[in-house]
Amino acid sequence: MKLLCAVIFAYCLSSCVTATQVASVSPSDTLTVSFAKWHKNSSAAVSMTFDHTWGRMVEWERTVPKIVADSVLPVDFDYTSGYIYDNNQHLLARDTLQKLGIAFFAHGHRHINNDTLSYEQAKANFLECRDSMRSIGINPLVYAYPGGYGYKTSTQRAAEDAGFLAARMFDPLESPHVLPNAVQTVDWYRLPTLMMFRKEFQDLHDFLRVNRTIVNNTAQLVPHLRENTRLGAWLILTYHMIGPTDNENTYEVRDLLADIGAIRSQRTWLVRMQDAVVYLREKEAARLSIEHRRNASGRLEKVILSLNDGLPDDVYSLPLTLLMTSPVQWKGKTLRAYPINNPNSPQMLVPAEDGALMLTIPPDGKQYVVIAE
Ligand SMILES: [Zn+2]
Repeated sequence: MKLLCAVIFAYCLSSCVTATQVASVSPSDTLTVSFAKWHKNSSAAVSMTFDHTWGRMVEWERTVPKIVADSVLPVDFDYTSGYIYDNNQHLLARDTLQKLGIAFFAHGHRHINNDTLSYEQAKANFLECRDSMRSIGINPLVYAYPGGYGYKTSTQRAAEDAGFLAARMFDPLESPHVLPNAVQTVDWYRLPTLMMFRKEFQDLHDFLRVNRTIVNNTAQLVPHLRENTRLGAWLILTYHMIGPTDNENTYEVRDLLADIGAIRSQRTWLVRMQDAVVYLREKEAARLSIEHRRNASGRLEKVILSLNDGLPDDVYSLPLTLLMTSPVQWKGKTLRAYPINNPNSPQMLVPAEDGALMLTIPPDGKQYVVIAE
C-alpha cells in the first residue's frame, strides 16, 4: 500500500501558474494550459466610450442610446455628477440607460482640468462624483479625466486613491493601443484613447489640430482597427456629442453606425471599458492550479483545475479564458470539462485555433474536471 501511494504521489502533478506562464512540465503527457490574452481568444479588444452624449434631456441625446439599444452595444457613458441637475436625470441613468447594458465611468463632479488642482482637490472632485453615482446604485470602477488631463502623477494618484481601478486620459502624440504584444503590463492610470471628431469640428479647435490620436470618420478608423488586431492590443474609442447639426456636433451618425460595422467585422472583443479593466486586472492576479490524476500505471485519468484571483467576486466576476492542448495519451479522444460537483453539465470546452480547446471560467477558486472519452 505504501508503495502504491508513493507511485500515485509521484504521478500526481500539482502546480500553480500565473497568466504569463504555461502550465506544462512534460508536454507529451500533461494537459497544457495557458491563459488566452483576450476573452474567448479574441484577437484584440475594442471599447466604445461616450462623453457628453446624454444628461441634458434634449432631443438629440436620444440618438446614441437608440443606436446602443438597436445594436445591443456594450458601451460606457460618462457620469459627470455636477451636470446631473435633477431626479429625472438620475432616473434616466439608473433605469433607462443601465437597462440598455450601458456602464458608467466617473468623469468628476466638476468637469475641469484636474491637473490644475492639488492632489487633495482632485481627489475630492473624484470622490464627490463617485459618491453621487453610488447614491443611485452605480459603482464606478473606471475614471476618465475631463479634457484628458491626467498628466500629473498627483492627479493619477488621486484617481487611484479615490478607489478607481483605472483612468483614461488623452495624449495626442502617444500610441492609442493598450497592451500590444511586446508589452506585458498596463499603465492603469494613463489609459490612452483614440478620439473620434469629425473634420469640421476638429478644424474649429486649434488644440485638436496636431495629433496622432484623432480620426474623423470610419475610413480613418479602419487602419487603426487593423493595427490593433495586428498588435493583439486594446483600443478605446472616445466619442462626444453626436446628432445635432450645429457646431456642437462632434461626429456624424452615419460614421458611428459604420464604425460599429467595421469593429464587428473583425474578430475583436467589443467590450465595455470597465469590463476590459476588470478582465485584465483579474488575469493579472489569477493563479491557475492544475492537478493531473493518474492510475497506478501512470495513465492519465483526469485533470482537476481551478482559477483564483483572490479578488472580491462582487466586482471581479468576469470569466477568464484558458487554452488547452491534449496530452499525447488523450490524442484522438474527445475532451470534456465540467464543474467538479456537476458531472452532467453541458460541454464547456470549445474549439480554438490550431486544435486547441477553450475553457472560459470565473477566477473564483471553484474546481473543474477535464477528462477524455
Ligand atoms: Zn468630458
